[in-house]
Order: sequence, then structure tokens, then C-alpha cells
Amino acid sequence: MQWIEVFNANQGLLYGFALALGLIVGSFLNVLILRLPRIMEASWRCECAELAGSPTAETQPVLSLTRPPSHCPSCGHRIRALENVAILSYLFMRGRCSTCRTRISPRYPLIEGLTAVLTLMVVLRWQTLVAMPLTWGLIALALIDFDTQLLPDSISIPLLWVGLLCSLF
Ligand SMILES: [Zn+2]
Repeated sequence: MQWIEVFNANQGLLYGFALALGLIVGSFLNVLILRLPRIMEASWRCECAELAGSPTAETQPVLSLTRPPSHCPSCGHRIRALENVAILSYLFMRGRCSTCRTRISPRYPLIEGLTAVLTLMVVLRWQTLVAMPLTWGLIALALIDFDTQLLPDSISIPLLWVGLLCSLF
């Protein structure tokens, strides 16, 4: 494939691509780490209400990974694309919401940076694509575990299968 030849000819381009990919994925991991436990909890509440025959059983969880769009939890300001550029937006806005100036946790750029550095390390050390989703999944699992002491099956089971399949080779 042509892009592999380009990366082979220019290692710097490959490392830059790995860092950029890591930042984008890190940004998504922030959403996953924050929302997945809440989505699971909302789903459990629905199941419990359904079992109890409560009228709230009709209520579907409204939170998903894409809805509602990212917003400031303090003033509800919807985060625009330019305010959502990994690390750079945080630095540019000096770690505060552009509308209400409420402080944004430094954890978000730190997770983006960590994901970028680990993605680069995967490229440098293993040079295999399959180690990337494994690394990203482990970052998400570690932080969700830290926050909630949960390890969501929706992440751990796919990783288990990837690991088992990889062990064949
Ligand atoms: Zn705000």
C-alpha cells in the first residue's frame, strides 16, 4: 500500500501521525471514560424499574457517547469544534470554559497527552497495529476502574478476544 511506503520513507511523518492519532483517540477516550459508566448505570436503573413494574420503566436512557453533544457542566455551553482540539484548546482557553470561565479539569488534556505518548511508544516499540486498540482499551479501563471500580464488559470482552486471537500468532 502506498501510505505504508510513505511512512517507511519518512519515520518523522509516521511518529507525527501516531501522536496526532493518539490525541484524537485520547479525546474520544475522555468521552468514553466519563459517559460509559453513566450509560451503564442508566441502563441498570431502567432494568430495575422494569423488574419492579415502575412507570419509569418506559423511560429510556437519554445519554449516549454522542448525545448530548459535549458541553460545559456548569453553564451548559456547547463545546464547539475549535474548543475541542486536544490539549491546544485547553491551553488556549487557559483551562477554563470560554463562556462562564469555570475551571476545566486538567485530567482531560492529561489523558489526551498520555494516549498520544503511549500510541507513539506502541509505534516505536512494537510497530504493530493491534497493540494500539489494546493500549487504548487499557487506558479507558484503568481510568473507569479508578473512578467507579467498574470494568465494563463492552471494553474488556472485545480486548479478551483480540488478545486470544493475537496469541495464536
Ligand atoms: Zn461554562
